[in-house]
Amino acid sequence: IKSIGVLTSGGDSQGMNAAVRSVVRSGLFHGLKVFGVQRGYYGLIHDDIREMDLRSVGDIIQRGGTILQTARCLEFKTEEGQKLAADNLRKHGIDGLVVIGGDGSYQGANKLSKLGIKTMGLPGTIDNDIPYTDFTIGFDTAVSIVVDAINKLRDTMSSHERSSVVEVMGRHCGDIALYAGLASGAEAIMVPEVPFSIDEIAARMKANFDAGKRHSIIVVAEGVGKGEDIAKQIHERNGMEPRVTVLGHIQRGGTPTHNDRILASSLGDFAVRRLIAGESGKACGKLNGELVTTDIDTVVNTKKPFNTELYELALRLSQ
Ligand code: ATP
Repeated sequence: IKSIGVLTSGGDSQGMNAAVRSVVRSGLFHGLKVFGVQRGYYGLIHDDIREMDLRSVGDIIQRGGTILQTARCLEFKTEEGQKLAADNLRKHGIDGLVVIGGDGSYQGANKLSKLGIKTMGLPGTIDNDIPYTDFTIGFDTAVSIVVDAINKLRDTMSSHERSSVVEVMGRHCGDIALYAGLASGAEAIMVPEVPFSIDEIAARMKANFDAGKRHSIIVVAEGVGKGEDIAKQIHERNGMEPRVTVLGHIQRGGTPTHNDRILASSLGDFAVRRLIAGESGKACGKLNGELVTTDIDTVVNTKKPFNTELYELALRLSQ
């Protein structure tokens, strides 16, 4: 392998830049030519590909977003689109590609692998919904942002003796809600993986309030429902009037934490080394402290196991 490309795809996440930097610098360190592809698979199809040097990834390790930009590209889901993308890579002499993104982006990488381009996936998404890695790049930062927001809400909730419903990201995976909820002492954490009873939550809030608890925070993953609807249902049951905060895209921005930068740096370099070793169609992850690769087919067909232990811990501590 002599030349590699790197792209970011799907939803952006904090730490993608640190991953791009790592791929570029590690590639150059190992004597490869490295190309950056703008706007994910869209840039592959439209040949928006440029050679990177050491300086082209300077001053980005601390930045959110992605200097390569990202896109969702329907054209790439077609066979013609995939063939065009592979042809463009070959035209530049690129024989390996690192794809930083989520589930969908991984499937795209797998298609290219079947067309003879060596591919490696890196888990770039705040949702932590990718299996065979303990954490995805961006998750740690997103959780910190939610915890920070809840700290601020708590101050004003306590002063006014109010409750709060905080809606966070996570359509299928409740990890942001789980980790942020546990870390911020939420009274209830509602995630898509665990059935819940609004009756029970509303009754518990009222009982705790009557027993002297002067604030309560309910964290809701968006996959469970809208924060507004949950607040309404609580009000109908216990008469309380929870205020609703929807954190939205704030969770995807800002400077990455050191955990995300280190994860991104380790995985970027690892992906390059695995490509040099001849692997393809694999996803890189850090599992139980070890860097591992797993077949993309396996990764995209496996649901990330839910951390029931942490969920039960949060429940025990939430009285
Ligand atoms: P996130 O979970 O953060 O949204 P993602 O990578 O899952 O990230 P998607 O929009 O699902 O985001 O995928 C990104 C791009 O990957 C798509 O726009 C498309 O170009 C490509 N892609 C997705 N699924 C496939 C597929 N089955 N085959 C080929 N390409 C795909």
